[in-house]
Amino acid sequence: MKIVLVNPRGFCAGVRMAIDVVDQVLDILPDETLYVFHEIVHNRHVVERFEDRGVIFVETLDEVPEGSIVVFSAHGISPAIRTQAKERNLTAIDATCPLVTKVHSRAIRYARQGYQILLVGHKNHQEVIGTMGEAPEQTQIVESPECIKNLNIHDPDKLVYLTQTTLSVDDADEIVSALKDAFPNIKAPPTDDICYATTNRQHAVRQVSPMCDLVIVVGSKNSSNSVRLTEIAQNVGTAGRLIDDVRELDPAWYPTGEETIMLTAGASAPEDLVSAICRHFVKEHNATLHLADIFEESVEFGLPLTLKRMMESQGIDHADRRVRVEAPVISADEYGSVAVPLTISTGKSA
Ligand code: SF4
Repeated sequence: MKIVLVNPRGFCAGVRMAIDVVDQVLDILPDETLYVFHEIVHNRHVVERFEDRGVIFVETLDEVPEGSIVVFSAHGISPAIRTQAKERNLTAIDATCPLVTKVHSRAIRYARQGYQILLVGHKNHQEVIGTMGEAPEQTQIVESPECIKNLNIHDPDKLVYLTQTTLSVDDADEIVSALKDAFPNIKAPPTDDICYATTNRQHAVRQVSPMCDLVIVVGSKNSSNSVRLTEIAQNVGTAGRLIDDVRELDPAWYPTGEETIMLTAGASAPEDLVSAICRHFVKEHNATLHLADIFEESVEFGLPLTLKRMMESQGIDHADRRVRVEAPVISADEYGSVAVPLTISTGKSA
């Protein structure tokens, strides 16, 4: 059996930053009960590990006692939630990914300019709910080309589209192209809203999966970008399976034991879950590990201002606390074996 580990996979800079925020607050205020509004990132293991450390995840701010500390998740929130936090005298630390914030800023700007906004995305996703909240009267959600006929358009020359950051690039292209057919003068955002991490992980799957018998994506079922990776594998003709961890592997997926299996992870999945799967395959199937580096990523984000102030008040220097994600190093101890690099055309990304 061959296991092909692709890079990039797993944590993006936004997820790393959000997790780091919760970690840092727990470290500097060990006696405070910390509340997080929604799952900090869409991964069951990340949430459970924080719950084990006493973090309480809530779905409404009414559940947070007045005066407490609350962290807003990486997916972003609507202004109404920010207002509610102020009314409840909460100390709010905003761990929204800056790339989601960018989409919010665009929604605000276009709404002020009198545009109707067509937001391409999944209506129940936290990110879409948050972005929609910036200009609810002027925003309509477009989940598929079929939704277009039901839109309520005042002026087809004063329309703009925005997209959720974690969509499938192919699905978004199809919807945007249908929007352009229906409204030829619709305005596009200045740059793509689908983020670098989503795009790169999808390209890697598209490029490597045709040479594999199976694609295993590590991620939770409510992680949009993880689900999209599985769909992309299936679209190019390779079976794709989304699993939370090694316990969900099913030997029926690799009946001969001679298969080539691509292993990747959604942007919210911790790398130790990937390494546990590698150890399993090396031990149980004598697998060899191969590394396919498709894109180099070099993105870093700063910590939220409220957290920096909190650190300053505790005398903690945050000057070098920018969040950076590097490709994981494969060691025999962690992964069960070292990995052999595969020669596949590579690219550079943001
Ligand atoms: S997937 Fe993209 S938008 Fe979402 S947290 Fe990561 S970098 Fe930010």
